[in-house]
Amino acid sequence: MTFSTLGLCDPILQALNDVGYEAPTAIQEQAIPPILAGRDVLAKAQTGTGKTASFVLPILQTFKDKANRRAKRIKALILVPTRELAIQVEDNIRLYGAHLSLTSMAMVGGVDIEPQKAKLVEGVDILVATPGRLIDLMHQRALHFDELEFLVLDEADRMLDMGFIGDINKIIERLPERRQSLLFSATLSDKVRLLAKTAIVNAVEISI
Ligand code: AMP
Repeated sequence: MTFSTLGLCDPILQALNDVGYEAPTAIQEQAIPPILAGRDVLAKAQTGTGKTASFVLPILQTFKDKANRRAKRIKALILVPTRELAIQVEDNIRLYGAHLSLTSMAMVGGVDIEPQKAKLVEGVDILVATPGRLIDLMHQRALHFDELEFLVLDEADRMLDMGFIGDINKIIERLPERRQSLLFSATLSDKVRLLAKTAIVNAVEISI
């Protein structure tokens, strides 16, 4: 299996070549085709398996053709448990999206909120955020999700362990119902499955 046979576009293939990835990992082989086909996905995958690229690459693919898209409204929201992971995921978006035209941002707590609001006003296509800071900005009416196409819940089990379920539910309530939702978790406990029920419709389930 190659990245090309998975159906990824040239600008992404070029970026993967630049970073030196030779072939997709197991989670990438299993998750990328259904995500590209528009399906919701519930995936059990540990860190270190290449899970980040398995949701970032198909989301980036939607930026290959910018026609008919309103510029600079949030198209993808990626929720992660920690500040470190938010920064890491956003670094990957920049790396894999190097030959595409889009704006991404990691929105985390512990830093001044005003520059983050200013950047949102300028326009962000892909937002990576921890739930707490996202709620703060939602309360300040700084976020517009009317053009949202993707929701990703990354490391969902860790977000639940950290007590973010209330925040996550509040965020989901504000999102358009017509969207593609992806949930990644190291474990698929009852709690994670319950969250999946509220966030996801008719998902393809993957386990590696
Ligand atoms: P993750 O599980 O997303 O944290 O990824 C773990 C590491 O694997 C990261 O350092 C990625 O850069 C790397 N990686 C992801 N996909 C591939 C691939 N197909 N080939 C080689 N390395 C990869």
